[in-house]
This record gives sequence, structure tokens and C-alpha cells, in this order.
Amino acid sequence: VAGQGIETSVPRYVRINTLKISRSEAIKSLKQLTDSVKEDDLISDLLILPAGTDLHMHALVQNGSLVLQGKASCMPAPVLDPKPDWEVIDACAAPGNKTVHLAALMNGKGKIYACEVDSKRVVRLRETVKLAGASNVEVHHGDFLKINPNKSPYSKVRGILLDPSCSGSGTRVQRLDHLLPSNTAGTQKDDAEKQRVEQLAQFQERALLHALAFPAVERVVYSTCSIYERENEGVVQAVLPQASARGFKLGTALPSWPHRGLPVFDGAHHLVRTDSERDQMDGFFVALFVREKDEDTEDG
Ligand code: SAM
Repeated sequence: VAGQGIETSVPRYVRINTLKISRSEAIKSLKQLTDSVKEDDLISDLLILPAGTDLHMHALVQNGSLVLQGKASCMPAPVLDPKPDWEVIDACAAPGNKTVHLAALMNGKGKIYACEVDSKRVVRLRETVKLAGASNVEVHHGDFLKINPNKSPYSKVRGILLDPSCSGSGTRVQRLDHLLPSNTAGTQKDDAEKQRVEQLAQFQERALLHALAFPAVERVVYSTCSIYERENEGVVQAVLPQASARGFKLGTALPSWPHRGLPVFDGAHHLVRTDSERDQMDGFFVALFVREKDEDTEDG
């Protein structure tokens, strides 16, 4: 398969689920497999193993102590930076990798409402939560857009992570499309893709505006595994006037990460982008909205 070479050159990232195992125990155990176990300098509790290390059947993965999660996918939860006593919503949660990452950052305290609309995927979400031992997670099977922000318990929510359905154009498999034989129906395919992306972006904008409508929310993280401007900077730019009218501004997500949003509007430097080839991880996008009274906007 074209691309296997690229895939095997990508480091194996593994996140320590601190709800189940300490960092030192995890590192000690992994060092029995390979001498090269490094700690990521951006995401705490993320370890880097050599490319090609197969951990799928490892006992610590099977029992939920370690989570096979790419570096890009580990960015949104620390950007939200929920405090252990907070109530938060993971708005589009399944399969639940970011939900249980939030749970670990909150030391299993506070409350996470993990919302998922799809009945098959909600089963997977429950399994992820159970395996991770994330007892502070309450799964809500339903449409995030139908949650009433002003109703208890949601009216007390202080953080929302919104990682909605997207084109998935940042994932490696999609990026390798260009290596496949050319498709005679290419133009039709492009038009269909444009329409699909526009529909997704309109949903993403609605969901983001809904997240910004929760009365006690202080921080909202919007992320996608898309590389398209329309789903990323386009969505952020579209909601900014309403966000600002509601007292939100962009906070700087992961200030030490060098690759920022496309410079299509003032403030795009607050945004994070990753690129699969340049950064050896999925193409990803993260934006942080903070309510203006929150003075600490640089700690994402
Ligand atoms: N955050 C997840 C993770 O890291 O494991 C991945 C989320 S995936 C990109 C988007 C999810 O949102 C899908 O499972 C999809 O079914 C769900 N979804 C889409 N529309 C939704 C809605 N209106 N309300 C709740 N969930 C929704």
C-alpha cells in the first residue's frame, strides 16, 4: 500500500492514563520493550516510542492504563485546561479519547458530560470511559444542539470541548489520496467534497455558537482533524462577531507550538495547526475561546 513507508516513520505516541497508572510505572514498563521511551515536551503524560512499535496487545493498553492516541489528538484537552472541580461538556465525544483525557486532567474529579448523538458510537464511548476508569464522566446520548444551556446541570458548565464531525482531511489515509491512480470523475468528486465541507462547516458553526451560549462557560475549545480553511479558520472567523458580542475573545492555544492558523484574519496567530508531513502527526486544528473576564488566556 502506498504510504506504508510514511506511516511507519511516524513515532508511536502513547498517552499515560494517570487515572490508572503513574508516569514512572508506565515508563518503567515500556522500557522493558524499548530503550527509547521519551517524554513529549508539549503534552505532559505523552510518551514517544520508536516508529512501528506495536502496542495494541500490550497489557497496559488492554487494561486502559495506556491510550494509543496521536499527539495532535492530545492537544485539545490541555488547551481547555479544566480544573478538577469544574463541570465540563465534551460535546461530540465518541469514541471518547478526548473525554478520558479530560477526566485524567481533572484527576477523576468534577464532572464531564460526554455527549454523543450516534447510537452505535455511544456504545463505544461507554466502553472507552469504563476501560479508562473515568468515574467522573456521565454519558449523554443525544444531540448537543438540543441541550438547553440554561437548564441544570448544564447551566453550571465552565468548559466545553467541541471536536465535531469534520471532513477528516487531516488524517494520513486521506492525505495519501493523491498517490492513488487518477480518477476520471475527479471534478465531480471535488464538487461533492466542496459541498460536503460546506455542510460540515455550517454544522460546526452552529455547534460552536451553541457552545458559546452556555451561561457559565469560561473556556471553549474547538478542534478538527481537517486541513481545510473553511472548517478551521473559516468557522472561527464566522462566529467571532457573535462570540465577541457575548464577551469572548480568542486565547492563545499552546503558545509554544510554532505552527499557527492561516493568516486570513487578525488574530489567527492564536490558533494552532498541525501538518501531517511537516509535523509527523495528523493534520489538526485547535482554537480556544475565553470569556473576557478570564485574564489568563496564555496558558492553553
Ligand atoms: N472527540 C472524539 C474523540 O477524540 O474520541 C472524536 C469525535 S468525532 C470527530 C465527532 C463525533 O461527534 C462523532 O462521534 C459524531 O457522531 C458526533 N456528533 C455529530 N453531531 C453531533 C451532535 N449534534 N451532537 C452530539 N454528537 C454529535
